[in-house]
Amino acid sequence: MNRREWMGALATVPLAARGAAQSTSLEAKVVRLNLRHTWTTTMSASQYRDTLQLRYIRDGVTGVGEGAPIVRYREDASSAKAAVLSVRELLTSADPWQFSKVMAQVFSRIDGQFAAKAAIDIALLDWIGQKLGVPLYRYFGLDPRDAPVTTFSIGIDTPEITRQKVREAEPFPILKIKVGLDTDEATIAAVRSVTNKPLRVDANEGWKDKEEAVRKINWLETQGVEFIEQPMPAAMIEEMRWVHRRVHIPIIADEACGHPGDIPKLAGAYDGVNVKLDKCGGILEAWRMIEIAKSLGLKTMLGCMISGSVSVTAAAHLSPLVDYADLDGNLLIANDPYSGVQVERGKLILPDRPGLGLRPA
Ligand code: MG
Repeated sequence: MNRREWMGALATVPLAARGAAQSTSLEAKVVRLNLRHTWTTTMSASQYRDTLQLRYIRDGVTGVGEGAPIVRYREDASSAKAAVLSVRELLTSADPWQFSKVMAQVFSRIDGQFAAKAAIDIALLDWIGQKLGVPLYRYFGLDPRDAPVTTFSIGIDTPEITRQKVREAEPFPILKIKVGLDTDEATIAAVRSVTNKPLRVDANEGWKDKEEAVRKINWLETQGVEFIEQPMPAAMIEEMRWVHRRVHIPIIADEACGHPGDIPKLAGAYDGVNVKLDKCGGILEAWRMIEIAKSLGLKTMLGCMISGSVSVTAAAHLSPLVDYADLDGNLLIANDPYSGVQVERGKLILPDRPGLGLRPA
């Protein structure tokens, strides 16, 4: 049989017999995560979050993924689940070893729905890591000892509850404080009444006026604040250039920085970017964003949504690459289905088991 005849014979063999779609399945499920405290930011107040959890099963190995849909981008758990199911056929028939190609196809077929894309990307890479027998940080050539300290986030609340939350966050050496409502001074005063720790502050686009932003940031500079995240609305990049020239602590873009293509125009208006798997669509895209930001001289940060340990652990495996981490979303929930990354005195401790290194909680 010459090569042409052999290829012709192969084309008549059913797909399953060639192993292309052999024993591959994909399960998508919406999971309700209950919060330890009601969570309030400038955008919402809630007692639970629904995230999408995926199980990609092939050759007896299960890759687990999670996506936490972001309301600001008009995503929710059911739209995320529908997006995943729309590419189920692609995923169960594709070769997972070609995950870069598979994810490019997923990005071209799904419009928006970045949490769904993140869940797919995480499940595929967890599967790859397990098949190779290496933790994902090792697959990416990273040293787990370089993983940064994570902040612990304090949502907007009354001064009394803010003080209580700050006391509960005692093991964390750096806190991230949510502001952006008209209670900012009272919030910071409440925090400072119980701790002298360094603070990072996130205004979540809360200040709509550039003079107000400068006034607030100049005041925060006197309060032991290391940096300020997203002081003004994402679209106000020119106003942020004006603000940037008048303040003395770094400004980090979050809502203004969703995707790799957003980053170049932020240089000069911000000092760094907050990369989140749920905003950009997974580990591969987050890697690209971190490299683009570094090439432009910007600081890098990995953040997360409120989600379970699957999503947070996936981000943590890239954290040796970044300057700052805010990977505490799993610590805010009471019924996490998995355990993965751990935190010791704020330091992220990456699991050394293959793939994400998850265990059932
Ligand atoms: Mg933020």
